[in-house]
Amino acid sequence: MKINEHFLDLKDSYLFATVGRKTAEYKRAHPDKEVIRLSIGDVTRPLAPAVIAAMHKAVDNMSRTETFKGYGPDQYCYAYDELLDTILASYARKGVTLEKGEVFVSDGAKSDCGNILDIFSVDNTVLVPDPVYPVYLDTNIMAGRKVVFADANEGNGFLPMPDERVQADIIYLCSPNNPTGAAYTCEQLKAWVDYARANNAVILYDAAYEYFVTDARCARSIYQVEGAKECAIELCSYSKTAGFTGVRCGYTIVPHALVRKGTSLNKLWARRQSTKFNGVSYITQMGAAAVFTEEGEREIAENIGYYRENAKIISDCLDSLGIWYTGGKNSPYIWLKCPNGMKSWDFFDYLLENAQVVGTPGSGFGANGEGFFRLTAFGTHENTRRACDRIRALLGK
Ligand code: PLP
Repeated sequence: MKINEHFLDLKDSYLFATVGRKTAEYKRAHPDKEVIRLSIGDVTRPLAPAVIAAMHKAVDNMSRTETFKGYGPDQYCYAYDELLDTILASYARKGVTLEKGEVFVSDGAKSDCGNILDIFSVDNTVLVPDPVYPVYLDTNIMAGRKVVFADANEGNGFLPMPDERVQADIIYLCSPNNPTGAAYTCEQLKAWVDYARANNAVILYDAAYEYFVTDARCARSIYQVEGAKECAIELCSYSKTAGFTGVRCGYTIVPHALVRKGTSLNKLWARRQSTKFNGVSYITQMGAAAVFTEEGEREIAENIGYYRENAKIISDCLDSLGIWYTGGKNSPYIWLKCPNGMKSWDFFDYLLENAQVVGTPGSGFGANGEGFFRLTAFGTHENTRRACDRIRALLGK
């Protein structure tokens, strides 16, 4: 027996564990001080009433022989028509036409980010932005693929563009981005689509935060860019869109037009999913099917609007202090430059000790994150406002 030794190449992830430990230590030493967390990457608002009603109805259906459901339907990898129809309709509203067979429903974008690699050879070179959502990097290290980095930095607004000198076969793009909050315009994405097509590469486009986009120039889907269906797979999630982090549902688009050396990647993914996956629970699928209905969209827009207001409170605070940042406008994340050239962890300690506010050090997302810091809009209005008052009082001195 030999283990997969590539796992030994992974760096231990201490980021959130260290944030948690340092916060707990501070609280123990200062029980009289109230700490506010602007480090939360998870949603806090409850599910939309339309989703809850649909899930209740689905539970009732499971209680009667006539309406009971077992495994999902085979035709579309265990996804129900009711759900697929709403996903197609949501794409149509973005100006993108898809077919049911191009949509694969899953238990979330994180699983699919890792699982999709099953259909690619380990010989491919992978291009990953730095800083990055760690899943892209770690899943490829586990498989033993060669990884090269696309530099995201202050100079390019944390939106790296293709470099013709770099040869990559698989390209990860995430927009709006975690951790930087930066979002590509359709015009910028066109350059990536052109690069991918010229280099025979495939883009894995993570659209987990697309519902936060407000700027009409920014992409809601990579398929809004001409030619993207021939070179891109899109990973989507109900987590941040509709508060499904604890429910678990997402969908991945593998267009029929995505073909390499005569092989349809859609067919490979369908084969992979039907072999290794047995679908998302009926109750979850019915809840998800309520999201992109008229009522559901109105209700999720309220929750997203709530987080957007928090993002505005934070960005207004940074604007008033003259601090450079990305995100906050089309994203729940705000990525700021630590003042006075401070390093990420030094700024973390400074903010915790002097304002009792917790954020996430940018260096935890990659070398280029050093000197930057992530705040999130997933808290309550009250805490976000109070945290910003404290930051203003401290940094405005
Ligand atoms: N992709 C990005 C960029 C994320 O930030 C996250 C979660 O934070 C995910 C995917 C995971 O989404 P899901 O909850 O659908 O697995």
